Amino acid sequence: MKSSPRRERPESTAQSPHVQAKKSLGQNFLHDTGVLARIAALAQPAAGSGIIEIGPGTGNLTEYLLKLGAPLHTVERDASLVPILRARFGSELPIHLGDAAELDWPALLADPGLGPHPVVVGNLPYYAAIPILFATLEAKPARLVFMVQKEVAARLIGHASSPEYGQISVKIQMLADIRIGLRVGRGAFTPAPKVESAVIVLEPLESPRFSIKDWPRFSKLVTDGFAARRKTLVNSLLLSGHDPARVLAALDALGLDPRVRGEALDLKQWAGIAHQLAL
Ligand code: SAM
Repeated sequence: MKSSPRRERPESTAQSPHVQAKKSLGQNFLHDTGVLARIAALAQPAAGSGIIEIGPGTGNLTEYLLKLGAPLHTVERDASLVPILRARFGSELPIHLGDAAELDWPALLADPGLGPHPVVVGNLPYYAAIPILFATLEAKPARLVFMVQKEVAARLIGHASSPEYGQISVKIQMLADIRIGLRVGRGAFTPAPKVESAVIVLEPLESPRFSIKDWPRFSKLVTDGFAARRKTLVNSLLLSGHDPARVLAALDALGLDPRVRGEALDLKQWAGIAHQLAL
């Protein structure tokens, strides 16, 4: 997986209406115009397609996305921000009020006004980044461009046997190509979050890698396999009811050590275990 890490220093600040940021909704407004412009550049949809922005907040990123000239829809959970967005962008901007993790994404992506290959973009609320990522990725937009906490980005791109590698790394990398588009410091936000951030770019695959047939069962296998990180894969899967003899036979067929841990298996080996277990 490619990465082009780049730490951004604040250049200048976007003028945004003053609001009391709600910590419970992950509101850290991005004011660094250099970062805003770079996120918009990463989001650029194909000609004739539009953008869906998650969490427009007071509209700082929205302003830069609108400059791209593509149709734009927004999804915001905080109803109190709607008058601010309306004052800034007028009544034409579509605002879908609700939780982006619960939205009917296939229906929204199919909106004819968004063209054939809409992209999804957002400076995500960090408390809900993972559920929002899975909800959107499963609906397969053309691209996802998301600001997330630096540690979450590291988990998403983590490789086998690295400390960051876990069930989320396996699942996301099975479903998409992923890279880091930009690293962003705390000073780019108001209020400054406690953590550093990164913008990740995901290109969803047409179907999961290595011909995984039954995604829900594969996903559960991976969850179970990482459930007890310090245990061997056999013992971890035993805890969730898998037959250890079958797991041992699967490891043997793949030429893997019977004491291997889930965190040591790469994507191909996880797929191999699933095929051996006939999942
Ligand atoms: N895009 C703005 C910016 O960059 O300045 C705001 C980003 S702020 C980190 C996250 C935004 O997501 C806030 O506007 C917040 O209200 C909104 N939000 C929080 N939880 C949400 C959810 N579950 N679904 C949709 N939006 C949510």
